[in-house]
Order: sequence, then structure tokens, then C-alpha cells
Amino acid sequence: MERATMQTAGGTRIQQTTGSEGPHYDPYSFEEWTVNRGGNTYVLHLGLAVWYEVNGVRTHQHDEASVENFERAVGLSLDVIQNGYWRARSRCKKCGSSRLEASDGYPGETLYICQKCGQICYCDFNRSAIE
Ligand SMILES: [Zn+2]
Repeated sequence: MERATMQTAGGTRIQQTTGSEGPHYDPYSFEEWTVNRGGNTYVLHLGLAVWYEVNGVRTHQHDEASVENFERAVGLSLDVIQNGYWRARSRCKKCGSSRLEASDGYPGETLYICQKCGQICYCDFNRSAIE
């Protein structure tokens, strides 16, 4: 299992755990998000099974409801968490700085530019923004 943590500007702590579950002959990778916000701990587990836990108490809901309730509770969508997390872990390939800022490129395009050396590190293309 691998763990890594990031912190948002608002003081919310987000931890990602990845690993595999299921039988050894048929492992299944999972991704788990642990969010500490306002003194509560929320966990969303995405793998063979999907579940959502609040302060150690697992709720019994179907998969979609688990994701929705988690998003509502932590005030962030899963996309935002995953993208933010990915960006927080990204570093400039040229100078190694982690200070990457998003800025707009062509319509529908977001560039991540290193604030230290100006290198364009990543480019997201969102087709839905221009169609
Ligand atoms: Zn750089």
C-alpha cells in the first residue's frame, strides 16, 4: 500500500491510499481517499467494492450514493480532489519546483506553468469547453 497526503488552503487534509485487494490470484487495485475536515474523518473507498465511512462508521449505500454523499460531506467533488492531488504531486521536469500554476492557453486548454523557471509542464485539454 502507498500513502500520500496533501493539504488544501482551507485546512482540509486529504490522504490518498492505493493498493490492491481481493484474492492473491486475482488482485484488484483500489484507491481510497481519507479527508479530515472540521474535526471529522471521511473515507471513500473505490475498488472491488465502493464504500463510504464517516468517523469510522461505514454507511450502507449503493456505489453512486456513496460517492455523492462523500462529495457533499467534504465539499469537494471527486474530480477536484483527484486533479488537485495530481497537481500537488506534480513537479517541474526542468527545475524540480512544485510551484505549478494553471493558466489559460487556447480555448479549452489549461497550461500548468512552472513559477520558477517558466517551463510549461502539463497541458489539460477540455473539449467540452469549446464545443
Ligand atoms: Zn521549473
